[in-house]
Amino acid sequence: MKNVVLLGSTGSIGASTVKVAEDLPDRIRLLALGAGNNFELLLKQTRKHRPAAISIGDPAKARELQNALGAFTHVFSGDEGLIKLATLPDADIVLIAIVGTAGLKPALAAIRAGKDIAVASKEILVMAGEIVMGEARKYGVRVLAVDSEHSAIFQCLDGKPPGSVRKLWLTASGGPFRDKGVWPREKFSEITVERALKHPSWVMGRKITIDSATLFNKGLEMIEARWLFGVEMARVAVVVHPQSIVHSMVEFVDGAMLAQLSTPDMCLPIQYALTYPDRAPSERVRTDFAKLGRLTFEEPDTERFPAIELARRAGEIGGTLPAVLNAANEVAVEAFVNRKITFPQITERVRSTLDAHSVIAHPTLDQILEADAWARQCL
Ligand code: MG
Repeated sequence: MKNVVLLGSTGSIGASTVKVAEDLPDRIRLLALGAGNNFELLLKQTRKHRPAAISIGDPAKARELQNALGAFTHVFSGDEGLIKLATLPDADIVLIAIVGTAGLKPALAAIRAGKDIAVASKEILVMAGEIVMGEARKYGVRVLAVDSEHSAIFQCLDGKPPGSVRKLWLTASGGPFRDKGVWPREKFSEITVERALKHPSWVMGRKITIDSATLFNKGLEMIEARWLFGVEMARVAVVVHPQSIVHSMVEFVDGAMLAQLSTPDMCLPIQYALTYPDRAPSERVRTDFAKLGRLTFEEPDTERFPAIELARRAGEIGGTLPAVLNAANEVAVEAFVNRKITFPQITERVRSTLDAHSVIAHPTLDQILEADAWARQCL
């Protein structure tokens, strides 16, 4: 039985994680649930799963929850609440699925308390990959991937060292504007928020859906992969694969390529992270090749989607630059969703913020958070 602390239980990954826990009641116990603001859903999840502790952002809401739940669950609040949950003595693994930078401190706290972590929040490795992986080595804990691409690479690598890898191939769906005939560059300024929020193959949160449309999602994943698997940026490649069946691939030094394939469903990579190194039975995912017919691949169009190259540059230079890329993108996506800027301006804003930043190499966590704050006020 694994005692799982789930931070971000009311979001899209959180909801899938709860489903996985319901599928495997003999293997997974939800020991603690952390949420941002969704009082109703957290209350419902707590009543159903009876975790030992929960946390919510607002202290007033925490008091309300405590009154509603009685004594069987400890209720915490705020940033300290998340750290409390991440370091619970009984916790075996902490799954971090909080959008934004709020997952960073709980992730480090969990590692320093000797807990394995499963990372769904991209910010953790994009902003502080060097620190997080260094601390994980120091404390002898695992950093497991929840993202479908990184889970695929992890499964294909199967413990092989970085020296046996020629390239890591991340697959990208290409997003809703992949087709150049329908969406030439000139039409990008006409892209509406509603149109950008329609993703062809995955149902996800708003931020990540826009990131999939600009391909910044893939850019952030390239930086994540670089840290998670200990290879330099030049060995992280992207290929567009619209069917989202091949979740990613590893090309080894002998030329062999291994891929992980399945019908897209986030429950699969989540379950693997939580049951690793075991594979637990699940009826959720079935893949029928005869029905699929064909799988196609194409080069990413970096002219229409400069995000890939911007992320490559940030990942190569490193230091505080990936944190700046991440923050600038987050603010630009917010501005686009609020109809203050156009779709192509998301990428332009990120580029101008990267250009304006003075990079600090091997930054401390405080310097990373300062760079993040700087980038946010820059736009
Ligand atoms: Mg992904």
